[in-house]
Amino acid sequence: MDFNLDEQLTMVRDMARGFANDVLVPNAPKHDRQAKLGPEIYEGIAELGLWGLTVPEEYDGAGMGSIELAVVLVELNRGCASTGVTVSVHNSLVCAPIIRHGVAEQKQTWLPRLASGEVIGAYCLTEANAGSDAAALETSAVRDGDNWILNGTKLWVTNGADAGVYIVYARSDPSEPRARGISAFLVPGDSPGLSVGKQEKKTGIRASSTTEILLENVCVPHANLLGAEGRGFHLAMDTLDGGRIGIASQAVGIGQACLEAALKYSNEREQFGKSIGHFQAIQWKLADMSTQLEAARLLTFRAAKARDSGESCSQEAAQAKLFASRTANFCADECLQIHGGAGYTDDFHVERLLRDARITEIYEGATDIQRIVIARKLLAS
Ligand SMILES: Cc1cc2nc3c(=O)[nH]c(=O)nc-3n(C[C@H](O)[C@H](O)[C@H](O)COP(=O)(O)OP(=O)(O)OC[C@H]3O[C@@H](n4cnc5c(N)ncnc54)[C@H](O)[C@@H]3O)c2cc1C
Repeated sequence: MDFNLDEQLTMVRDMARGFANDVLVPNAPKHDRQAKLGPEIYEGIAELGLWGLTVPEEYDGAGMGSIELAVVLVELNRGCASTGVTVSVHNSLVCAPIIRHGVAEQKQTWLPRLASGEVIGAYCLTEANAGSDAAALETSAVRDGDNWILNGTKLWVTNGADAGVYIVYARSDPSEPRARGISAFLVPGDSPGLSVGKQEKKTGIRASSTTEILLENVCVPHANLLGAEGRGFHLAMDTLDGGRIGIASQAVGIGQACLEAALKYSNEREQFGKSIGHFQAIQWKLADMSTQLEAARLLTFRAAKARDSGESCSQEAAQAKLFASRTANFCADECLQIHGGAGYTDDFHVERLLRDARITEIYEGATDIQRIVIARKLLAS
């Protein structure tokens, strides 16, 4: 059941659901094995206008909000979590900060190309010594006349191998402590000195590209500074509020796929002369999965609505991500258990769901970091 979807949201959901059923579900196992999404996925997303779902219409996007994005991401992730994170990062970690913090020229340069999918976006915050403690980042940005020279290595960059623009967070003023000395830069993918390093071999979301990004004397014009100088960390955190709603949506989508697979198997598999769905132990698992999933969905849509209202939504986003990501892992674990030995093979796709669910508790702020965000808000209120 979906909560309170109006006509437009229902239409958007059905469009994404149709694509997921027709294209993502049948191809997800192959893409997982190949550790790469096929071109038909990028083209299909473009045909549906989903690369630019949240880009304003004046920049050739669909002009929709966080709630539409959340509804779409639930559906895409139900079909293929690698596709889901690719679209989520592009919309919420790249398009969104350009829309919210970019100047007219930056919007004109990047948003139409991001909206069409001609250019895919990537977000480069994490480094070897700056994971949860992102303010410890060491990539440097040194002013050189009208330009900035960037040097450093970024880790774990989603869409790293495919991006045409990277938002790079770098230390532009080493005399300022931690967060205060950081700025954000729009770095074109063809910039001399920018290269793609190690491609990570991951437990799950294998078809999503995750790479190192190496920056060696990369020169970008001052005009590519995104937001105010020294405000990059603030921009990164504001961006992550939206990103976390995207990951919460991913978790709900994966959880939904788990529930559907578990229900199907519970009706089909027979032991002791009846389908296993007759056993109360199985029924309780299904009831708990469904209930937690609906709660996760409500928290996620609540956070998306808060984001669209223009008010701070850090707490709502962190609560949605915390609860939804744990729910996805709970559902994936129970789903595999309901499948017994069959679930432990790749004959069924439930082992992939378990592998894919795991990441939702780690990226865009691990579970412990969401708790810190929530507790700080509570203590300050
Ligand atoms: C597949 C994948 C894709 C990613 N995509 C991107 C991307 O596109 N762009 C990007 O910039 N980054 C990306 N990341 C990085 C991701 O956001 C980080 O992995 C995440 O923030 C955690 O950092 P870490 O891995 O260094 O873990 P660490 O910070 O080393 O944390 C290790 C453990 O310690 C806990 N911990 C840390 N600090 C505290 C604390 N103060 N209190 C309690 N517990 C704590 C954490 O919760 C965690 O359990 C990606 C990561 C992965 C795995």
